[in-house]
Amino acid sequence: MTRDDLKTLIRTVPDFPAAGIQFRDITTLIADGRGLSATIDHLARLAPPGTASVAGIEARGFIFGTALAARLGVGFIPVRKAGKLPVETIGQDYALEYGEARVEIDPTLLSPGEQVLLVDDLIATGGTALAAAQLLRRAGARCDNALFVIDLPELGGADRLRDAGIASHALMDFA
Ligand code: 5GP
Repeated sequence: MTRDDLKTLIRTVPDFPAAGIQFRDITTLIADGRGLSATIDHLARLAPPGTASVAGIEARGFIFGTALAARLGVGFIPVRKAGKLPVETIGQDYALEYGEARVEIDPTLLSPGEQVLLVDDLIATGGTALAAAQLLRRAGARCDNALFVIDLPELGGADRLRDAGIASHALMDFA
């Protein structure tokens, strides 16, 4: 399946979670066996050589990130929302359109200088991915690459990541 085929499997839900927002729903993509498999094939082709682990952002980044890690034969690092991990964590606060959020990791899962590939379902403003990358870097890992299924380029997330030294790719764009 081509990337254009995959794009037809994304469901657009108007006015979710708030009026005026077009939510790009990946559940219709992952419920399609060929679509899910082809998505992981495409992501695996974009994974840089030397990737030592994949970090996925809760919750939808876990779906694609874990499958990609298994395909690449490397480990998976969960970047979790605040208060979920049962051990001592490091955390990073970041701004949302309305309010604040926090992501956390267990830094003992990473080795110094380990090359971590960041994965999430979608990049919009880039705030979530940037916070996750900063956290991985604070834990001593290298995080210079990120992959997404969907990019909303008008919101500038990929540019923000590039300014932070992170090269990113997405399988499809929605204007
Ligand atoms: P950002 O921090 O780049 O502004 O927002 C990206 C984060 O919000 C990702 O973790 C993503 O899962 C979530 N997100 C924002 N809008 C959408 C959307 O339309 N569809 C999906 N699937 N996730 C979204």
